[in-house]
Amino acid sequence: MLKNRIVLEYLNGIIEDEDNIPIIECLLEDMNSDEKIAEKTNIKLNIVRRILYRLYDSGLTTYKRNKDPETQWYTYFWKFDTDSVYLNLNEKYEMYVSRLEALLKFEEDNMFFACENGHMRVDYNRAADLEFICPDCGNKIVFKGNEERISDIKREIKKYKKIHKEVNNLFSN
Ligand SMILES: [Zn+2]
Repeated sequence: MLKNRIVLEYLNGIIEDEDNIPIIECLLEDMNSDEKIAEKTNIKLNIVRRILYRLYDSGLTTYKRNKDPETQWYTYFWKFDTDSVYLNLNEKYEMYVSRLEALLKFEEDNMFFACENGHMRVDYNRAADLEFICPDCGNKIVFKGNEERISDIKREIKKYKKIHKEVNNLFSN
């Protein structure tokens, strides 16, 4: 899982620095306390704690706590939740695709008009309200084809669908 670039990119966004990946590797091996993780990875305890908190905040770790009968102190044992990596990534790319599809529909269903000086881009109704005059510069607002924009959006949709599929394949094994 940690070899996949999509997963790595996602995790790096949470753990701040690629140098902190050993913390996740450590959690994948076994349930560990923060002190044990610091010891095994040679990463400073305060950093380990911060990263554990960030992972927990993103729903990627769970913990169990044990109370020391003598000192009454709690020790937390952390576990990495691989399923949540999948769920979060799946949701993220599903959302990208559905937003882009909504945008595509909007572009395909409407005609667009733009100021000759590039100040604004509006749909027909708005352009008619403005009597086809740009309020910023007084120039005309003219019809502007959106074929290029549509093909850009289509390309983006294709790209994110491909990543979405890759995520699903990766976690279905
Ligand atoms: Zn203008």
